[in-house]
Amino acid sequence: MRKRIVAGNWKMNKTLKEGIELAKEIELQVEKQEDKSIGVIIGTPFIHLSEVSKIINHNLISIAAQNCSSEPKGAFTGEVSAEMIKSTGAKYVIIGHSERRSYFDEDNKTMNKKVKLALEQGLKPIFCIGELLDERKQNKQFDVVNKQLNEGLFDLTDEEFSKIILAYEPVWAIGTGETATPQQAQEMHEYIRKLVSENYNAEIADNTTILYGGSCKPSNAQELFANIDVDGGLIGGASLKADDFFEIINSF
Ligand code: PEP
Repeated sequence: MRKRIVAGNWKMNKTLKEGIELAKEIELQVEKQEDKSIGVIIGTPFIHLSEVSKIINHNLISIAAQNCSSEPKGAFTGEVSAEMIKSTGAKYVIIGHSERRSYFDEDNKTMNKKVKLALEQGLKPIFCIGELLDERKQNKQFDVVNKQLNEGLFDLTDEEFSKIILAYEPVWAIGTGETATPQQAQEMHEYIRKLVSENYNAEIADNTTILYGGSCKPSNAQELFANIDVDGGLIGGASLKADDFFEIINSF
């Protein structure tokens, strides 16, 4: 059975003090959660990772970095390696977020290097894919996602791929308030699972967690998560408020 997960992406928000407070608030909420089988992840800025790691109960919440370097170590000023992330107690790393792709020109080849370095360190990548608005208008969304998966992930071994969490995030829905309809989300998630099955096998496809991301909030999480191939969400804006984030976790 694949794992259902709700992961928060705080992006470049919260000072260290605010981040610690938010993590504590989220933990207080998650303690009350009845269904402990749902994985809860918070993706904090780099500087929060080790402090948040010290104060949270890792049985309830796991921590993710939002990025890692495509180089293992050395003279790369300002970069943070997968090994460094691992040393903070983080278990996951978000790779290929559309903001990294668009603002920092990261391509699938770079993502692929990051994924391999993360896996070498025992970190689990949350790999983001998704089409731009223009691409959807031209009905190219399936080709785009296929290419991202082919170039970013599909050279991994079965064992490596089994550690990947996928996040389908249509770029036109991220931070815009516009959400994919449950039908659009299901259609794409089903397609992604089919691609995984073709490139690996049916068992691996069935066990792969595929999250939806893009203006997911308490008011729409339930109808999105009700779809058979939607295994949870990657949540931006709504993960910055403990109450909203918890309501989303409780939406299955
Ligand atoms: C994201 O950044 O991954 C995201 C889905 O953001 P939002 O929920 O704010 O659209």
